Amino acid sequence: MNKPCSKCKGEMSPSIHEPFHGEEGGLRLTISDMPYDACAQGHKRFLNLTFAAQLMDLMLNPATYQKFPIATEKGFFKKTYLCPACAHELPDAPTDAQRLEVRAEIEGAQPFKVEVDVPVYTCAGCGKACIHSIKETGTLAFKATGHAYRSIDIPPT
Ligand SMILES: [Zn+2]
Ligand SMILES: [Zn+2]
Repeated sequence: MNKPCSKCKGEMSPSIHEPFHGEEGGLRLTISDMPYDACAQGHKRFLNLTFAAQLMDLMLNPATYQKFPIATEKGFFKKTYLCPACAHELPDAPTDAQRLEVRAEIEGAQPFKVEVDVPVYTCAGCGKACIHSIKETGTLAFKATGHAYRSIDIPPT
């Protein structure tokens, strides 16, 4: 038995959300076909208590970005980032974005899709594109996911 809507006590029924977006620090993501519950008044709820956190964890997880080459960090007080291929110094600001498709498999839900446009830094020396650090990219995606939730007015718990 599905719990009634916490706002209007209406009946909640399973639904699939239209694509929605979140952005943080040049990283933009689109969440598509996310299953959720909705009532007739349009109030929204995640499928279960840990759903929102599981998706944010997936976006924070280094394994999600393993296909990207990672810069070598140099320096202590002022960090510089070097190309992993030719050791040329990388630009401070992203030069481009690369699309990553993530299959989101959350407990108790059918899989859906998150497309992440990951900011990348193109090496002026050899033309290879990489990310500064996997932690930085994961943190941006984590925050962008939170913004995406707010944009569709779905309470995280
Ligand atoms: Zn409602
Ligand atoms: Zn290079």
